[in-house]
Amino acid sequence: MAIRATKSMSFFDVLASEVVKASKGSRASMASRSASAEIRSLERHDYARPLRRLLGRSEVREIIREARSSVWPRLNHESVRLVSPSEFTKLWSGLGVQFQLAKLGGADGVGLLGFYVREMGGSRLPLICVNTAHHPAAIGAAFSHEMGHHLIGQLFDSRKGHAQMSTYTAYGEHLHDPEELAADVLVSLGVFPEAIARKIFLIPRKGRQSKSATAELPDSVSTTVLKYFEGRFGLSFGAHLPSANKLQYLAAVVHFAKLRRALLTEYDI
Ligand SMILES: [Zn+2]
Repeated sequence: MAIRATKSMSFFDVLASEVVKASKGSRASMASRSASAEIRSLERHDYARPLRRLLGRSEVREIIREARSSVWPRLNHESVRLVSPSEFTKLWSGLGVQFQLAKLGGADGVGLLGFYVREMGGSRLPLICVNTAHHPAAIGAAFSHEMGHHLIGQLFDSRKGHAQMSTYTAYGEHLHDPEELAADVLVSLGVFPEAIARKIFLIPRKGRQSKSATAELPDSVSTTVLKYFEGRFGLSFGAHLPSANKLQYLAAVVHFAKLRRALLTEYDI
């Protein structure tokens, strides 16, 4: 899809509105319209303040330490490696959690990425469920986010026993929930390790000062982010991807990119 951003619309706005235009049927177009509104709202959302309010710099450092010691030894040094769902479950089999894979496609299933259930009753281990109907990049993000819940629960002695669903419409809500945001921080660091994040998000500017983490991503950065997702994780937004997935993944791309930039500009992480 060829994308040309206009002055009044951001890069992701234009991309999302193209998908909305292309979606057939009134139900599909209604769903896609609300998804594109979600993307717009994430784009305009200030990420610096919620990050500072929900997670301090030392808490983020502690989460990284814990994650490196048990799951991702190279977190923030190298990007995470995408493996098959069954390989994820094998790799993480010793981490005190059980896995359930389900392939939930169709209009109803596609919104669900995964969930984590801490209290399973009796002596049963906590459960990570991942929807494998998605693109490998989205499956990897779901595994990482849910594993994040597992780590963070142990770290902060979480009182949340209920299942935490991960759906694409929830990113805005994650900016009000420290545990959700912490799990997303791990995904974001796994996607954009420090050296890459610095290259993408801290672009030298001539003349005018940028508005830092509160601003929308400049179009040049958005383009680089999409190219990075394609090159590193094989996620491209071409015709082969159904429009429901396109909007869902775009919301994720915006969310994780803005979160990563905030970690860099606010905490120098
Ligand atoms: Zn979650």
